[in-house]
Amino acid sequence: MNNPSQPRPAYISHALLLDLLALQLPTLIQMASEDKIISWLCRLTVITAFFFIGFIIGWFARPTTVNHGHASKSFLHDFLDEMQAENIKHHLRKLTRLPHLAGSQQNLDLAKQIRAEWMEFGLDSVELVPYDVLLSYPNKTNPNYISIVDHLGNEIFNTSLAEPVPEGYEDVTDIVPPYSAFSAKGQPEDELVYVNYGRTEDFFKLERELGINCSGKIIIARYGKIFRGNKVKNAMLVGAKGIVLFSDPADYCADGVEPYPNGWNLPGGGAQRGNVLNLNGAGDPLTPGYPAKEYTYRSSLEDAVGLPKIPVHPIGYHDAVHLLQHMGGPLPPDNWKGALNISYRIGPGFMDGLNQNKVRMNIHTNNQVTRIYNVIGWIRGAVEPDRYVILGGHRDAWVFGGIDPVSGAAVVHESVRAAGKLMKKGWRPRRTLIFASWDAEEFGLLGSTEWAEDHARVLQERAVAYINADSAIEGMYTLRVDCTPSLHTLVYDITKKVSSPEEGEEGMTLYQSWHKRDNSTERDAPWISKLGSGSDFEAYFIRLGIASGRARYTKNRKTERYSSYPVYHSVYETYEIVERFYDPSFRRLEAVARVRGGLIFSLADSPVLPLDCVEYAMSLTKYANSIYQLALKHPAAMEQYSVSFDSLFSAVENFTVAARDFHQRLDQLDTSNALAVRMVNDQLMYLERAFTDPLGLPGRPFYRHIIFAPSSHNKYAGESFPGIYDALFDIENAVDPQKAWDEVKRQISIAAFTVNTAAETLKPVVS
Ligand SMILES: [Zn+2]
Repeated sequence: MNNPSQPRPAYISHALLLDLLALQLPTLIQMASEDKIISWLCRLTVITAFFFIGFIIGWFARPTTVNHGHASKSFLHDFLDEMQAENIKHHLRKLTRLPHLAGSQQNLDLAKQIRAEWMEFGLDSVELVPYDVLLSYPNKTNPNYISIVDHLGNEIFNTSLAEPVPEGYEDVTDIVPPYSAFSAKGQPEDELVYVNYGRTEDFFKLERELGINCSGKIIIARYGKIFRGNKVKNAMLVGAKGIVLFSDPADYCADGVEPYPNGWNLPGGGAQRGNVLNLNGAGDPLTPGYPAKEYTYRSSLEDAVGLPKIPVHPIGYHDAVHLLQHMGGPLPPDNWKGALNISYRIGPGFMDGLNQNKVRMNIHTNNQVTRIYNVIGWIRGAVEPDRYVILGGHRDAWVFGGIDPVSGAAVVHESVRAAGKLMKKGWRPRRTLIFASWDAEEFGLLGSTEWAEDHARVLQERAVAYINADSAIEGMYTLRVDCTPSLHTLVYDITKKVSSPEEGEEGMTLYQSWHKRDNSTERDAPWISKLGSGSDFEAYFIRLGIASGRARYTKNRKTERYSSYPVYHSVYETYEIVERFYDPSFRRLEAVARVRGGLIFSLADSPVLPLDCVEYAMSLTKYANSIYQLALKHPAAMEQYSVSFDSLFSAVENFTVAARDFHQRLDQLDTSNALAVRMVNDQLMYLERAFTDPLGLPGRPFYRHIIFAPSSHNKYAGESFPGIYDALFDIENAVDPQKAWDEVKRQISIAAFTVNTAAETLKPVVS
């Protein structure tokens, strides 16, 4: 993380001159008496001369900084306007031609190409930052597949070794076949058990209500609802010796849509790649907590963080039919049945007549320490270079990455181009802007986490905000934003400055279009969600406590029930699927570019940071109420163990008062007082930090945010007051209720303390 070191021209900004002039004004008034008229004229002459000399210096020293107050507003407008659909289309085409898996030569080539183009666009400096992390690849000579074997051990059915390649890509080499990255090796063989989505509640149902034991079995779970790594963890917890993941059409096909290439549904031969780690924010499995540099100590594979101990493999629904159609055992509950034309059965094993047959997994995937490269670009801030605003998104893709991540990376590319263009017009942000193209996100958020670990100290001191830029589109309906509460107001403001990309909505703002389609249930404004995980903001937000947000175009969450988007992590994520179906005009991607770009621009350039503590207070109130409601499901135990939430509600009230007072003082702030501005900005910047606890959450030392963490049962989802939530989870079945409720009380006190501490940071510095 070297700051750009090339010399910059000395300059006196016009704003600085005006400041100097303003400082002289009271003196001028005081002097304006008759007996001092001569001295007054002398001073005026000096000031005028000073002004003109300064003006001339300023004029010739351009480009210069004119980013104080109003000037930056017109630059914001220029910046948003500069980002154009046609350019994003061009970037997407260029960055999706070849597969670019993390650790591959193509992904390094792409990193170099991005570095060269960011330099051309006009960034101050761009560097490649390498780390050596644990990755995982299939064995090229010994492929992975699943078999049905008969009683003689003959393989009577084998799943496919690759997906049918889409038209136009037949000659492409290096398409990695579907696999579960970091799967254990092995060839377990046994009866199959169908476990629905493999969620915690599914296993509760299976074991507690249906009395089916998964120990020693191979289980088959459908993809969807939760992060695949959580399914694998659950499988290990019940003692399964292998897990097969399949995409059911119920979860990966939308009604009335054709499979790709005639539509955007997942074809039967397609399967979802993905890592199956349970890192809980650790980054590289061999170097938890520390950057994976050359000299870094690496733990052994046995001690690595988050690696599954059992084989895992993904298949498509054509193959899944063969495994599922002859299963025996009881019928599952109706909501366990997918959309395949078979009678779903739980097992274990196959039906009578075939019950000698078993399922065998053949998994030969290798773990391998591999060099990865982040691309990091800098624009040095003009006024506060030691304050950082980061726009980061990953570059590595499972195959072409048409949606994930290149729809996002193309948008970052366009933001960098637009920022460079503005710099040529004389703009330089008040604060430093950092652009990141992360590597190895697909292998557990590795590039972004290693960089966060590498620079944790300066990031904690200097980072104002992190905006994430993974896939920019996953549906064709409206905007989706997940962010920290202090960013709500800014998100609404920016979306009011962006036009709706939808046909027939000319003249409508994105805010209006979004509001119309997805109104919040709590107030008359568009719906914004909390952050979960599953993308690169994790280390920045949940470990380091840096205000973070993400925005993308999405489906209708109320009516479109399929998981993610159908072709997610398959070979069918091409440029064409975006161009033909998701965004033919590229105006949706343009709108997302403007939202992400508008956020980083405002955060980097506004004299007072556009963060809203009152919004944080409102969210805390809401979350405190909902966790209290959850506890109230156990009124008798609450009484018996004297569990009270009073301290938490009191802390939230303290925070609410402090936030309101803070913003009242902010309204009176003398914005010409640079030191006063810097003081409130520091309070705003460090607010998110105040919600972190260096000790982390129980059993999850790298999840340090006390208000938000990924759910312990689904990494994709965000949980509020996660410490209390986890302590309450399934508490009715606790072996030792006294101990379990003591833990609830401990977590309530940690939450109350943390919220009180955060409130303290917002109080007047001198009282
Ligand atoms: Zn992604």
